Amino acid sequence: MLKISEARPNKRIISKAAHIIRYGGTVIFPTETVYGLGANAFDESAVLKIFKAKSRPKDNPLIVHIADVGWLSRVVEEIPERFEPIFESVWPGPITFVMRKSKSIPDCVTAGLNKVSVRIPSNRIALSLIKASGVPIAAPSANMATRPSPTKAQHIMEEMKGKVDMILDGGQSAYGIESTIVDITSKVPTVLRPGPFTIDELRKILGNVHYQKQNRSTGKPTAPGMKYKHYSPSKPLFLVEKSSMKKIIDFCVKEKIGVVAICSKETSMEINYKNAIILGSESDMYQIARNLFDSFRKLDISDAEVGLIQSFEENGVGAAVMNRINKATGFSKVDETDSFLSLFTKRRK
Ligand code: AMP
Ligand code: MG
Repeated sequence: MLKISEARPNKRIISKAAHIIRYGGTVIFPTETVYGLGANAFDESAVLKIFKAKSRPKDNPLIVHIADVGWLSRVVEEIPERFEPIFESVWPGPITFVMRKSKSIPDCVTAGLNKVSVRIPSNRIALSLIKASGVPIAAPSANMATRPSPTKAQHIMEEMKGKVDMILDGGQSAYGIESTIVDITSKVPTVLRPGPFTIDELRKILGNVHYQKQNRSTGKPTAPGMKYKHYSPSKPLFLVEKSSMKKIIDFCVKEKIGVVAICSKETSMEINYKNAIILGSESDMYQIARNLFDSFRKLDISDAEVGLIQSFEENGVGAAVMNRINKATGFSKVDETDSFLSLFTKRRK
């Protein structure tokens, strides 16, 4: 693992990492969303190393990262003309587009689908690495399957140490949640995963956009691979309405159940409870997003038995925050002490 600065990525380190990618190895690198575990997207055996390192199911496709819009023709079958100005305006950035795949992309990258997802990241370390490698880099988040995505090098050391050829430590991820994914092969572009690039921003540039919120009753995955348990801490975590937080904490304290509250600064002032992990202020949902996955890992290393996380408004990036929270909690929302107790007892068994 090598430390590297985003302001001025060290050329020697980048060229070493690029050498590993070109020769079929794996590198964990920072992006502005979360850390990625990358390999040469054209090299099937290199890509298979990603699945192995993460214990990732083979039917969960990877995002292909390129350095320049000019590289698109190397990974997609056909560049959709009407989107060209859009790519220029949103990339580099935290948004991924799904397009028809080129034959040069091995099937394992796309989990056998005829579509590939593509992104140009804005993080300068990521961009320098892709440029220096000279090949597109296939990279999912650099966590073990089901675990929260890593947003700090320390998260990677917790579970990926020894499983890849190199780790670049570029500090904390700027957004801290995964990119927005939009399928542009359908007539009306469809959001498969909400992310830092919000639905409102998308509608401004694309006009009509489909977005089907995944909910508890249907639980229907919007993107391939999204059916899996995702983003989860090892300890039980429950979603709680802000107004019920205090009541459930008091109950846990009375029953001697060690509990951590994951909440905003505003909520923490209301509940006035010492074991709180504060995500940030509700006036800045990007800050809440940035600290979210770190809070799940903090819960795991705490002494507590259970975590409660508050619910947030689904406006702007709040939609992406709630999407990750819903998946991490398995859509288990509790607002009464008896429903909490019965779900918690089930999980504890
Ligand atoms: P990760 O980077 O770990 O968040 O994983 C990438 C996610 O992108 C996958 O779980 C899929 O949901 C989505 N994805 C990647 N490729 C495709 C594709 N070709 N079509 C639709 N979704 C995709
Ligand atoms: Mg992932």
